Amino acid sequence: MPRPILATVHSAALSHNLARVRAAVPDARVWAVVKANAYGHGIERVFDALRSADGFALLDLAEAQRLRALDWRGPILLLEGCFELRDLELCSRLGLWHTIHCDEQIDMLATHKTQVPHRVFLKMNSGMNRLGFAPERYRAAWTRLNALPQVEEISLMTHFSDADGPKGIAAQLRAFEAVTHDLPGERTLSNSAAVLRHGAAVGEKSDWVRPGIVVYGSAPDFPEHSAADWGLQPTMTLAAKIIGVQHLVAGDTVGYGSSFTADGPLRIGVVACGYADGYPRHCTTGTPLLVNGARTRMVGRVSMDMLTVDLTPVPEVGMGAEVTLWGRSSGGAVLPIDEVAQAAGTVGYELMCAVAPRVPFQVE
Ligand SMILES: *Cc1c(COP(=O)(O)O)cnc(C)c1O
Repeated sequence: MPRPILATVHSAALSHNLARVRAAVPDARVWAVVKANAYGHGIERVFDALRSADGFALLDLAEAQRLRALDWRGPILLLEGCFELRDLELCSRLGLWHTIHCDEQIDMLATHKTQVPHRVFLKMNSGMNRLGFAPERYRAAWTRLNALPQVEEISLMTHFSDADGPKGIAAQLRAFEAVTHDLPGERTLSNSAAVLRHGAAVGEKSDWVRPGIVVYGSAPDFPEHSAADWGLQPTMTLAAKIIGVQHLVAGDTVGYGSSFTADGPLRIGVVACGYADGYPRHCTTGTPLLVNGARTRMVGRVSMDMLTVDLTPVPEVGMGAEVTLWGRSSGGAVLPIDEVAQAAGTVGYELMCAVAPRVPFQVE
């Protein structure tokens, strides 16, 4: 018997969320961002549901090769571009489009011998201060690229730091437009938060949008909005079973460090999921989960292979009962991954990316 824990990827939810993106920016083409192994879902597991995307964006060349191995002939964009010269050979061979964010990448491209000129995405640092050319250096980089025989077409790109919050995108959008307004080429601007919250503003300015987290059914601006507020569906369920039951009396404690003490009689379930499965150890007493679809709370600390839940709301259930750590119960009840992430002091992104290799997956 395998240990009773299972992650499920929901294909219909992926397609539904992609359609939500299209509705928010109907005139833009959509890169489905599948970096980090499709946000932990598995590129091969999401591919069929997302193949109506106009392209796939990622940053690991091995992942790009996996997409080509799935016979994806459409656009693939490397969001960080190339790291070394031989990456450019792979770009030529596999027809990958790549970001250019620094002079060293232009130098590298200038020495690359290729029969096929490349399509490149020139990235501006419009305020995020991560990757990209400063606005005052952007046009010089464009001119340099434009003179290279290795370059077929230059597209223009930037990334927003605050699309999910009160600062918004206006200042970065202004900086980008001030420098690029008379440059030819397609534009790609928006992450998930910009698509959902600023779709009207960026939709017409962005030939391509780059949604990631929204495709995977998590709200980019939780808790201001929930996934349900945005009409998104969870694309990943992490479920396990109860493999033990304990009956506590007042004063009994649970787990390492005795961090939880029962104040009266309490039935608890022991669940086959721990931090070695990717469930965050920062979750403590009070973190929500579902037992047979009913909402209850975790008690005590998460250990490597197990965690413990309060069975008070489900007095009839015991050994073998279904526990939904996040996602959708078999009866259809939903526990948003964003609520679990909040209890761990993080975001849904991190939880879905961190499901451990020992957890088996199915696609449904
Ligand atoms: C990860 C990433 C995205 C997608 O971000 P989400 O917040 O998941 O939508 C878009 N663009 C770039 C450059 C990224 O690195």
